[in-house]
Amino acid sequence: MTSLPLVFEAPRRALPPRHLADLDEAGRRAVVTELGLPAFRADQLSRHYFGRLESDPDAMTDVPAAIRDQLGGALLPRLLTEVRHLETDAGTTRKSLWRLHDGTLVESVLMRYPARKDRAERITVCVSSQAGCGMACPFCATGQGGLKRNLSTGEIVDQVAAAARAVARGEIGGGPGRLSNVVFMGMGEPLANYPRLVAALRRLIEPAPSGLGLSRRSITVSTVGLVPAIGRLADENLDVTLAVSLHAPDDELRDTLVPVNTRWKVAEVLAAADAYAARTGRRYSIEYAMIRAVNDQPWRADRLGELLSNRLAHVNLIPLNPTPGSEWDASPKDVEREFVRRLQGHGVAVTVRDTRGRDIDGACGQLAASG
Ligand code: SAH
Repeated sequence: MTSLPLVFEAPRRALPPRHLADLDEAGRRAVVTELGLPAFRADQLSRHYFGRLESDPDAMTDVPAAIRDQLGGALLPRLLTEVRHLETDAGTTRKSLWRLHDGTLVESVLMRYPARKDRAERITVCVSSQAGCGMACPFCATGQGGLKRNLSTGEIVDQVAAAARAVARGEIGGGPGRLSNVVFMGMGEPLANYPRLVAALRRLIEPAPSGLGLSRRSITVSTVGLVPAIGRLADENLDVTLAVSLHAPDDELRDTLVPVNTRWKVAEVLAAADAYAARTGRRYSIEYAMIRAVNDQPWRADRLGELLSNRLAHVNLIPLNPTPGSEWDASPKDVEREFVRRLQGHGVAVTVRDTRGRDIDGACGQLAASG
């Protein structure tokens, strides 16, 4: 007798367990009703999670233990398990490595910026939207590892909830505080995980008990420039801040630095960002990693300045952070200063991003989530 090859047993990937953050209010109530419980229990559970930032159902002491177990089992599974965290800057920068239900690893980075005379304190979490990334930008460690999988809405939101909890409980340097900003600049291309991203944004923005109640403008979605998705995002009325990773003003160089440019060119990406800004009435940022002798020439500064001079955009220069195996360096400071000067000469607002977390491989482009 010949045995059949086991071709029918295609490897099936278990989805992350369902979490209340995956659902809207009606969805949460439907699950609870199906358990035979009154719908208000769903609201109680989400107040617990979004309002009190509690992830342990047993801490819901205002609910009978048996019901707690039922609710927790159905809607509050543990999505993220901290493998370890690394801290620097006197505990005000903290990178967490999380293990997901299927063993996949992702990272998020929490950063506290003290108040300055012109600005209130900011506490920002940089979250991942995918495990790995499929965009293959050659200067980014995440891009070099390829895409493992999309994160679920719950897995994205729970990174923010965990950060908000750590901040509220004073687990980061500087004592208890309040999470103020979220940037989608961790692992992954957020717009390549579109439906999960948009649902996560809703959870972040909606007030408790449905969400974390963060302000729209304090949330930034950074993209390589997936043009159709930028258009769709504008229509969602979420009004979050958009950041576009440009890194070169000319298609010839951008084709190599941001490979998706071979599909959507600089002019198309900027037109999509303009349309987004027109909808929201808000400036977008152009991210530009300063790579020595690659994209930092004075003529490229001028070209970028000309491109942006009449746009609702500002430039955020990012000194290149080192990544394993890359022979590229950050631009020298005098080259960076000249680049800034030329952009400003075209009337373009410029900031230079700090290199927070570099010593713990927690800075832009360094997240690789190796166990
Ligand atoms: N996929 C999104 C989020 C990426 S991370 C995007 O591409 O926009 C946020 C920013 O860090 C992006 O602008 C990205 O290009 C940049 N970046 C990646 N690697 C970097 C590195 N080694 N040094 C500095 N910036 C880097």
